[in-house]
Amino acid sequence: MRKNIVAGNWKMNCTLPEGKKLTSEVIHMVEDEVKNDAHVVLIPPFTHLSSIHSLIGSSNKVLLGAQNCHQSKSGAFTGEISADMLASVGVTHVILGHSERREYFGESDELLAQKVKFVLDNDLTPIFCCGEKLEVRESGAHEKLVGDQVAKALFNLSPDEIKKVVIAYEPVWAIGTGVTASAGQAQEMHAFIRNQIAFKYDQSLAEEISILYGGSVKPDNAKEIFSQPDVDGGLIGGASLKSRDFTNIVKAFD
Ligand code: PEP
Repeated sequence: MRKNIVAGNWKMNCTLPEGKKLTSEVIHMVEDEVKNDAHVVLIPPFTHLSSIHSLIGSSNKVLLGAQNCHQSKSGAFTGEISADMLASVGVTHVILGHSERREYFGESDELLAQKVKFVLDNDLTPIFCCGEKLEVRESGAHEKLVGDQVAKALFNLSPDEIKKVVIAYEPVWAIGTGVTASAGQAQEMHAFIRNQIAFKYDQSLAEEISILYGGSVKPDNAKEIFSQPDVDGGLIGGASLKSRDFTNIVKAFD
């Protein structure tokens, strides 16, 4: 059975005291109110990981993620962080290929294939992001583009490896814009991605992979989106910075 996951990508927001306050609020609200068994992943900036890990403690419901990592073990890469460094401070999940990394830092699917492999080799779970820009959607080439992103970054993995990957479909036109893909559009793309995996590997393996939707998910649209058969949760940006909104999104699975 694949896992439902709600992951909060804080991006470059929150000082450490603000992040600790947000984390404590989320932990309390999740413990007191959430009835479902979705995994909740908090994904703060690198500087906060260790402190936030201490706050999370040994919770098996609230987990810790990072927003990126380098594709090498160690070395002369000033300003970069490696997968084993992340593992050593309690990180379990790593976002790779967020559209902002692709757009502002030139990350290609070839580079992301290396990062995904490296993260898996360090026993961490990659949250691999894919998604099309508005002009691609309008031209009708969105399935081809997303299919290529997934194939180039993931289809060199063995069946045992790809099973451990979480995919996040995030249409770029819906990120931070307040415009959400309709539940139907999300379902259509998630089913397409799952079919591509089934075609390359097999159906039962494809059924095991969690595919999250990201792009302006809010408490008032989460339930409809998460109720789609191929949507297994969300990667949440803006709304993850408000404990009440984020918890209410997690509660959409109740
Ligand atoms: C994101 O950046 O991954 C994201 C989904 O952002 P938002 O929820 O703000 O659209």
